[in-house]
Amino acid sequence: MYDVIVIGSGPGGYVAAIRCAQLGLKTAIVEKYPTLGGTCLNVGCIPSKALLDSSEHYHNAAHTFETHGIKLSNLKVDLKQMITRKNDVVKQNTDGIQYLMKKNKIDVHQGVGSFVDKTTVKVTKGDGTSSDIQGKNIIIATGSKPSSLPFIKLDKDRVITSTETLNLKEIPKHLVVIGGGVIGLELGSVYARLGAKVSVIEFMDSLIPTMDRTMGKELQKSLKKIGFEFFLKHKVTAVESKGKEVTVKAENGKGEIIEVKGDYVLVSIGRKPYTDGLNAEAAGVKITDRGQVEVNDHLQTNVPNIYAIGDVVKGAMLAHKAEEEGVFVAETILGQKPHINYNLIPGVVYTWPEVAAVGYTEEQLKEKGIKYKTGKFPFMASGRARASMDTDGLVKVLADAETDEILGVHMIGPRTADMIAEAVVAMEYRASAEDISRMSHAHPTYTEAFKEACLAATDNRALHI
Ligand code: FAD
Repeated sequence: MYDVIVIGSGPGGYVAAIRCAQLGLKTAIVEKYPTLGGTCLNVGCIPSKALLDSSEHYHNAAHTFETHGIKLSNLKVDLKQMITRKNDVVKQNTDGIQYLMKKNKIDVHQGVGSFVDKTTVKVTKGDGTSSDIQGKNIIIATGSKPSSLPFIKLDKDRVITSTETLNLKEIPKHLVVIGGGVIGLELGSVYARLGAKVSVIEFMDSLIPTMDRTMGKELQKSLKKIGFEFFLKHKVTAVESKGKEVTVKAENGKGEIIEVKGDYVLVSIGRKPYTDGLNAEAAGVKITDRGQVEVNDHLQTNVPNIYAIGDVVKGAMLAHKAEEEGVFVAETILGQKPHINYNLIPGVVYTWPEVAAVGYTEEQLKEKGIKYKTGKFPFMASGRARASMDTDGLVKVLADAETDEILGVHMIGPRTADMIAEAVVAMEYRASAEDISRMSHAHPTYTEAFKEACLAATDNRALHI
């Protein structure tokens, strides 16, 4: 009998298992695929960043090296090698998780985990053989899968999801992306930088519509420069594929239908929680109408010894959110009282410029009727950004009008994915914009832009603009 069985080895599941083992609990993890790490390591965060890095190198070599005084001739893309390197990066990471399981003495059971009852999980291998394992506590961490629209036939050849987009055999001539969210824009960027024309069709009136509206507008300007075209406020009504040609039909606000033809269509309209094969009913675990495992504030399901974390429950579908929840549940099982501040989970888009945010957006503050001040600093005015020719974007700080407490930070620019950590720390400690304004930031760094935006938010005292 295990103390804990974790079903699913993504960032939620494997982190939960490690924390359980650290706390002295006898732990097992069940994973249906031969490699550990889930969506994030195998077909998500890691491979996408590997390809984003490679394509950014190529793009810089093709477009900015000459200005830097570096001349190249015969510059070519070897997509096969790019994908091979990406696969190597994935392997290093998934092997790393295997090592961590061994180091922490966690038993790995390969196969599909399905409930027999509330303490028994049947593990069924690919060859059909199965065995039962028992656990006092069970953590469901089965993640998510790409969603689609009912009229779209994903043939996984020309009409594809993020998973296939990470393994293309050729650079599309024209990639049509359905959905202007994080995944579509990141993967669209990979191929735009390698020379593809990329058309994005988005239902809402802004890209990355859940983020502060300034970010979407700025990102749109930057992505246009590398060959993106955008159809906002367009509702996709049909996707047709004939040989190597795909046609996407979409309706604009006036009821007119446009047609965009390409050679590949990436359907990236979001992800849906995944519980297929889990047989949650056998344990009596409730699944919501949206397909999520229902949990309370302690991430406990309606069955007290069964918990659920990550993409399969409510909240942002992010690897670091899943990880926090993994630690939270492990500590809860041991009777500790952990805490997650969901408002301070940062969100990042790894385009170039990168977009990163934490806390409230301006739209949310307006909706809540909270009075706020805004401080902005453009990267154009940053010496560091000028040195690296990364002057697109800005940092926007929203602070409480009376107390000066930082309520939201929204950044678009170079390395903001890393810079946002400072804002998270500041907000966890409930810093005011003035607090940050009075802290020394190394010069020249991109981080000075955060300090300058805080200066701008206090008494309009930015120094370099
Ligand atoms: P998952 O990672 O989905 O893992 C679930 C695991 O459970 C899988 O391995 C699955 O095989 C296994 N499983 C499911 N059912 C069973 C069963 N019955 N038995 C056994 N095993 C089972 N997030 C970020 O924070 N940053 C990023 O940069 C980022 N980039 C992304 C890029 C792409 C292209 C995609 C698709 C996603 C990206 N994400 C990113 C999202 C991130 O991958 C997810 O939020 C994260 O993986 C969720 O972790 P999880 O542990 O909940 O589930």
